[in-house]
Amino acid sequence: MLAWNSQELQVMKVHAIQTGFVRIKTAQVEGRGHGLPRRLAIFTDRDWTDWLPTYAWLIDHPEGIIVVDTGQGAHLLESGRSLHPYVRWEVAFRIEREQEIGPQLTSLGISARDVKRVILTHLHMDHDGGLADFPNSEILVAPGELRTASGYIGRLRGYLPHRWPSWFDPKPLLLAQEALGPFSTSCKLTDAGDVAAVATPGHTTDHISVVVRDGDTTYFLAGDTSYNEALMLAGKLDGVCADEQVSGATLDAIRRFTQSGPTVYLPTHDPDAALRLANRQLAGATR
Ligand SMILES: [Zn+2]
Repeated sequence: MLAWNSQELQVMKVHAIQTGFVRIKTAQVEGRGHGLPRRLAIFTDRDWTDWLPTYAWLIDHPEGIIVVDTGQGAHLLESGRSLHPYVRWEVAFRIEREQEIGPQLTSLGISARDVKRVILTHLHMDHDGGLADFPNSEILVAPGELRTASGYIGRLRGYLPHRWPSWFDPKPLLLAQEALGPFSTSCKLTDAGDVAAVATPGHTTDHISVVVRDGDTTYFLAGDTSYNEALMLAGKLDGVCADEQVSGATLDAIRRFTQSGPTVYLPTHDPDAALRLANRQLAGATR
């Protein structure tokens, strides 16, 4: 069991950095049916969500700044010209260059050079869009996710590996058989052990989440494990997960984790995530 360092209280700050907006089909947010029909439902669904935020996260940690996901890039505005049917028809973006993570760090007074590590929950286009701003940082990606997203096959799967910077050569994020609460594998991301990655397979097979322990509160940087907190609490799966059983087990583990101690749950596209972070609003707390 990974032990949290409880000596240092509130030693870091987590910032939400919104990198524009995204709109997807409602059948992607909450899946309908099973198997192939579940995936096809996204294409036949006529209902779009409202514009949802796309957050990246910055952890201002005494051991160095950590960025979790890099958000959208302005290049995504060309997605309507993609040959990939999902990219072309089933997702829409709003983002300007100044809303990318690099320019936003600059306005926070942080140089991308000061970012020690970048952790990617997965490599979907709205999470790896700001990679070009971090040529000097150590970038960590789960090896399975990198394999899935790479090359021509990756493009057929809807990833955009041809948009990665030429220098992109991430370090493998290797999870060990070291349990962290209900998660059977984890990987410490700081010497203090207060930031760790855990396996949260479902949305993608090798999806990871980042847990940040600050004092008695844990911030759960959830990537796309669910599109909002209510769906996680209700155990409702998205419409794109590869394996419904695995996805359900992950949401169940997250729910149990949030019940085991004060936890703020922060998915990438949850419209309430930044407010919950600012108010330290715990998962399941009534509004
Ligand atoms: Zn995703």
